[in-house]
Amino acid sequence: MYHPELAGKVDAQRQAIMNMGKDIEAEARRCFPGGHLVTATYRQSTLALEQTATLLMDPTVPAIFEGAFQFQGTFVRVDVLERMDDHTWRLIEIKASSRAKAVHLDDLTLQTYVLLSAGLTLSASCLMHVNRQYLFKGDVPDVQQLFAIQDFMETVQERLPAVPGQLAAMRAVLTEAAPPVIAPGPRCHTPHSCPFWEYCTETKPARWIYHLPGKKETFYKLTKRGIVTIDDIPSDFSLTDIQRRMKENVEWISPQLLSRLRTISYPLHHLDFETLMPGIPLYEGTRPYQPLPVQWSNHIECQDHRLHHDAFLSRTQQDPREEFVVTLLASLGTEGNICVYSEYEQYVLLALAEAIPQYKRELLQVVGRLWDLLSVIQSFYYHPGFSGSFSIKSVLPALIPSLSYHGLDIQDGVQATAAHYRMVFLETDWVERERLATALLEYCARDTLAMVELRKILLDKAEHAIDPSL
Ligand code: SF4
Repeated sequence: MYHPELAGKVDAQRQAIMNMGKDIEAEARRCFPGGHLVTATYRQSTLALEQTATLLMDPTVPAIFEGAFQFQGTFVRVDVLERMDDHTWRLIEIKASSRAKAVHLDDLTLQTYVLLSAGLTLSASCLMHVNRQYLFKGDVPDVQQLFAIQDFMETVQERLPAVPGQLAAMRAVLTEAAPPVIAPGPRCHTPHSCPFWEYCTETKPARWIYHLPGKKETFYKLTKRGIVTIDDIPSDFSLTDIQRRMKENVEWISPQLLSRLRTISYPLHHLDFETLMPGIPLYEGTRPYQPLPVQWSNHIECQDHRLHHDAFLSRTQQDPREEFVVTLLASLGTEGNICVYSEYEQYVLLALAEAIPQYKRELLQVVGRLWDLLSVIQSFYYHPGFSGSFSIKSVLPALIPSLSYHGLDIQDGVQATAAHYRMVFLETDWVERERLATALLEYCARDTLAMVELRKILLDKAEHAIDPSL
């Protein structure tokens, strides 16, 4: 209300979620043929109220999209308001998620409160969300199957009596001369990350207890005891192994690290996938939010440490899965372990084995050769530069600062997904498409090269570590 300029920029992840939400909302409206959209924007509230009133009065309008309502200063826009035969209305909020969540009920309750108070007769108060079980049979998605509508009127009615008090409390805060003094913490990211996080935390120390990995209850327990930094945590406070290592803040090399690193067999492949997860299925035989692999990178290290690189990037609007599998199997061959960083590649390979039965046997053999570097690091090594995170984006700069993701056009998986979607489905300029393809290939190759170098440096550290038992 007062200092919107202090909000951080919308990051790639949030932007991607917002874009997908808009696409899903547009698709969901197809469930209500003949519906009319209130075109006034969020800044044109008076016009939006007028347009809504006109549509409400017109009995030929079967549904209103983005209808505007106001009661005692509380203004809402309703995703769908459907006219029923018995002169009542059905309120429907569209959500891109695959199930109803508690936060959706807060939204629904407030909307219901405003509409009922404004004099509408509602027969249902519903959430409409994506049905993950829907199997796309090709051509155009069947929106009646793609979406599920659940009526929550009973639950909403139980919550309605609390709404006036909640609104009064919010108004009271808004009329205060200064913002409320509330300390930031993990709740600032639930259910969504607050855009003021950077502003609210800019004076926090580098080793603020918020950065301690693990359950958020630990943060609140420590805050209650007046503890601000990880270094101040008393020695009698119960910590997990990883939390303890972060508190000790020194490099730790398990005596078992060396033997674990030597369990691999050559040629050693280093594999990484990038995937799309479209809420509205794109290809026949796929379901909403099913990961669709579109890119792989494989750095292959031979026994004599020679290194070569293979890659695949889907560049067309065709279903990428079969080409992905054929090229991948050719690159992986039948020998050597396959180093990955997380269980995600295994998950995608198993899904591919089910989707393309003719390659099931080979894909399952590939799964049997996977070797997870992440789990080895988590169990047998710690570096203060990790700051409690074992993400490759934290581990790489701590161990090999010269090989970071800085300088790459694409720096994380969310940006990669968005760039791939843009390259294949939106971009018409071939020069820009080529630029995106190059950026995607560079990013995915960096992930696999990072694994090669991380394994090498860990091996070196393990070989030169002093055995504490000696
Ligand atoms: S305290 Fe948390 S929720 Fe409140 S403005 Fe700051 S970051 Fe946002």
